Amino acid sequence: MKILFLDQSGKVGGAELSLLDIARPYRDHCLVCLFAEGPFRTLLEQAQIPTCVLATPIAVQKDSSVVKGLSSIGHLMPLVIKVAQLSREFDLIYANTPKALVVGAIASALSQRPLVYHLHDIVSQEHFSAINQRLIISLANTFAVAVIANSQATKAAFQQAGGRSPTEVVYNGFDIAAYQQVRHDRSTLRQQLGLESRFIVGHFSRLSPWKGQHILIEALKHCSENVTALFVGDALFGEQKYVEQLHQQIEQEGLQHRVRFLGFRSDVPQLMAACDVVAHTSTAPEPFGRVIVETMLGGIPVIAAAAGGAIELVEPGKTGWLTPPGDPVKLATCINHCQKYPHHSQEIARNAQADAIQRFDLAATNEQIAQCLQQVSQTSRVTFSNVLRWFPACW
Ligand code: UDP
Repeated sequence: MKILFLDQSGKVGGAELSLLDIARPYRDHCLVCLFAEGPFRTLLEQAQIPTCVLATPIAVQKDSSVVKGLSSIGHLMPLVIKVAQLSREFDLIYANTPKALVVGAIASALSQRPLVYHLHDIVSQEHFSAINQRLIISLANTFAVAVIANSQATKAAFQQAGGRSPTEVVYNGFDIAAYQQVRHDRSTLRQQLGLESRFIVGHFSRLSPWKGQHILIEALKHCSENVTALFVGDALFGEQKYVEQLHQQIEQEGLQHRVRFLGFRSDVPQLMAACDVVAHTSTAPEPFGRVIVETMLGGIPVIAAAAGGAIELVEPGKTGWLTPPGDPVKLATCINHCQKYPHHSQEIARNAQADAIQRFDLAATNEQIAQCLQQVSQTSRVTFSNVLRWFPACW
């Protein structure tokens, strides 16, 4: 089957890393089309996955108004036409992000190729403006022959927002070996970081208000002096103001000597292995939470915020800890427990590793995706009349 994958981002987020793994088996007969230049293109090319960039001049922001949304679609038309032309060479269009859905939906109607939408987002007011929620739902309902949701939480939010397309949950899969061969680097890396004698709480995420780095900084005040927070990740989508706020918070609390920022890193498994525990602190429901599974696979204790997909990944007290989102005191309590009872936290981490190996193997995920794509490639296609029906229905 020949697949045209679409993704709006040139940056490397969870949705893009998932696409990298999904596209790899199709690399002899697929094209990944990005709407922006960036390091994601390099990753795809390193994996020998055919890639092209069709840059778009517009950005549909979370606060877009109806008018802005409509005019955005107008501006997208040259891109839509280009994608429609490209897609005639393929059996199926696979939209991996919301903006890719907008472009892919209309293109699929023009080229009469079936459209699959991989939903990596919780479609709710915490993550999208009302207009963008409506846009996503109406496009998916009208044009997507199938939706692949990355967790039960994303599926439930999609349906609650009015999503009716056939939806299957497929969890992200991981190359398990990559997380298991790194333990021996632990002490070297801790030394290199100058943190060998510290109790390291890792945090792996782009820097963004809803990812809640400020919650971990606040939690440090309730932890012992030798606890250090290690932040791995960068502000990917212009969250510079938040980064400044984090530095102000650290300065005001006098925590400079207990916090390290490493920026974006591509050696996440190694860095996780150097940590004593990893904290996930999203203040809004996490659609899936790749970092949680990666921590489990690495055999490192994980404390996650109890909302969205995180609840499906961690069984509290058995494979990790769940704390209420936005609660630094509860987070500190769990960190302190892991520090005080290392044997118990190691036992939990071992359980988590065994559980994650069973549930998140990339081979199984890719098999599920392949079956889903096989089924939908044989189903009916959208036609241009769908566009005419969708337009008034949406607004
Ligand atoms: N990640 C990375 N380098 C970093 C920070 C994060 O490669 O410096 C990866 C991380 O390992 C994970 C992904 O980015 O695979 C983030 O996915 P997640 O589902 O946790 O969050 P999202 O970015 O999708 O909101």
